[in-house]
Amino acid sequence: MAGESSALMPVEEALEALLRQAEGSPIKEVECVSIDEAAGRILAEPLISRMDLPPWPNSAMDGYAFRAADLDAQPLRVSQRIFAGSPPSPLDPGSCARIFTGAPMPAGADTVEMQENVAVLDDGRIRFVEPVRRGQHVRPQGGEAQTGEPVLDAGVRLGAIELGLAASLGASRLKVKRKIRVALLSTGDELVEPGNALQPGKIYNSNRVLLRHWLQRLGCEVIDAGIMPDDVGQVRKCLASLDHVDLILSTGGVSVGEADYLGQVLREEGDLTLWKLAIKPGKPLTCGSYRGVEVIGLPGNPASTLVTFGLLTRPYLLRRMGASDIEPLSFRVPAGFSWTKPGKRREFLRARLQAGTAVLYTNQSSSILRSAVWADGLVEVREHSQLEEGELVRFISFAELLN
Ligand code: AMP
Ligand code: MG
Repeated sequence: MAGESSALMPVEEALEALLRQAEGSPIKEVECVSIDEAAGRILAEPLISRMDLPPWPNSAMDGYAFRAADLDAQPLRVSQRIFAGSPPSPLDPGSCARIFTGAPMPAGADTVEMQENVAVLDDGRIRFVEPVRRGQHVRPQGGEAQTGEPVLDAGVRLGAIELGLAASLGASRLKVKRKIRVALLSTGDELVEPGNALQPGKIYNSNRVLLRHWLQRLGCEVIDAGIMPDDVGQVRKCLASLDHVDLILSTGGVSVGEADYLGQVLREEGDLTLWKLAIKPGKPLTCGSYRGVEVIGLPGNPASTLVTFGLLTRPYLLRRMGASDIEPLSFRVPAGFSWTKPGKRREFLRARLQAGTAVLYTNQSSSILRSAVWADGLVEVREHSQLEEGELVRFISFAELLN
């Protein structure tokens, strides 16, 4: 029906609204954490190098260091041996130094030749067997970073590589945004935590664990608010007990079903909108605030939770923590399938990359999580569109989303 489709909110619009909301309540507090605990955090201030990196010129090769001007004086006497980690003496004029990778260049030397291109004579002197270029195989002082230079910008998300760079500059503690405190709650009388017996009609709660790990990876502090029963009184009590949180993140119970009490209470006591998104899986999503705390209510089906968290909540959280990069990297790949029935909602299909094409999991039901285990990521099929096999589609890898 045209009427129904016009009522759906496009994904971009929802994302924009969420990002605006995030910008209105940025996490401002900064904390100084050990580099060993900084993974996943957002750098709060630029990291300025306090040293030149490398701090002194050093050899890029195992070989011999010498002065290019002495090339004519070959064969050269070896006047010292310099290992990585030990300080050299100034180079005797007309001689060379045996040198190893990473070892500091001796004062006076400007060039290195690799040992493979050096002939050692019987008397121990050396000769170069290949043409030599002045300055070759020397890593200059400050070649990677110079004192005073910003090397990581504020807003950078600290991963293994960024932390490695910070360590190479001697940083042992970093100023990062404090963690965003997320109260995570699941709703539904049907839910039981793993470890308990499953009574008739019940299912195990998968969203809690899925989101808990994901949130932690994103640098959030998770306050586990447990499972909310489908009971208005208990929902009210549970919500009221949440203290010192920046976000209430719930799954399930947000649509307008009879037992969707969380949505009901949030709408009554908070300032909340229920969106019907043009997204599949994941149509219903609530967002707003409850007693000054922001709320995002995700749909309960696990694949819907996954998609709406990854594509909408993740960027919201990153933006609130001041991250500059909030969009997952995506790339275009040939579709290993055709799409003949244009939909009213944008579909994010669980797909695997096989021989350079994106192949769909056979069952795309929103209740099925195995599809996402099988898949490498999501393929985007835009609303109202058709696809022929081989056409390029946008692919967002889970590795990128879950990062
Ligand atoms: P709801 O939005 O509450 O109507 O839930 C939609 C579907 O998702 C129902 O089949 C629920 O049983 C299921 N569901 C809701 N929450 C969870 C959860 N935390 N873990 C697994 N399934 C869930
Ligand atoms: Mg429910």
